[in-house]
Amino acid sequence: MTCRSCNAIIADKAIVCYKCGTPTMETPAVVARPQPRSRAAVGLVGVAITALSAWLVPMTPEGTWMRWAAWAAVPVATYLTARLIRGSGSGKMLRR
Ligand SMILES: [Zn+2]
Repeated sequence: MTCRSCNAIIADKAIVCYKCGTPTMETPAVVARPQPRSRAAVGLVGVAITALSAWLVPMTPEGTWMRWAAWAAVPVATYLTARLIRGSGSGKMLRR
């Protein structure tokens, strides 16, 4: 048969054209791409950490380093979460 995209002659049983890669038949979306569920999990964890640090602020004694640390943890957690969610794939989470 011939490729419906580039008209190359390809084997009758070919699934895709060897030249241009076009599927030889109307393929229903069998190639379901798994949703990056880990990203959502990371987001949830990040939100939880952010909420935890925000919740910790009033728990810490005022005027101590702990109060400042709790304050600092909020934007840091937010930033890290945003970065992790936006980050490009796995294995780079601890990249500096
Ligand atoms: Zn082709």
